[in-house]
Amino acid sequence: MDCLFCEIVKGGIPSTKVYEDETVLAFKDIKPMAPVHIIVIPKEHIAESAAGINSENSAIIAHIFEIIAKIAKEQELDNGFRVITNSGEDAAQTVNHIHFHILGGKKLPEKLA
Ligand code: AMP
Ligand code: ZN
Repeated sequence: MDCLFCEIVKGGIPSTKVYEDETVLAFKDIKPMAPVHIIVIPKEHIAESAAGINSENSAIIAHIFEIIAKIAKEQELDNGFRVITNSGEDAAQTVNHIHFHILGGKKLPEKLA
């Protein structure tokens, strides 16, 4: 399987790591859209997108959201932040390994679409 984020997990592609545990990795987005732009992923390729979340794999998604809160504190995003998961073509998803964007560090635009 040819998956960019699986390669990052394996260390084949370098990344700037922000957080890591047994099941989750977070790293800086290579093309940041805000002063803080972090990608959070399950290390295992459990789903291509949010459309693939089900009762078998949702525990790790809950864990990811705990980590998101922890990262937001560490990054001092006390004034707020946005979590985005693009799912599929209409959302302009480019990497088909489920992931969550944390965006913050400035006042973000109100409009998402
Ligand atoms: P999405 O468009 O939601 O699929 O998001 C994929 C994100 O991965 C984009 O914001 C890219 O900038 C980011 N990205 C692509 N390649 C890398 C990389 N090698 N390291 C870090 N982030 C990356
Ligand atoms: Zn993958």
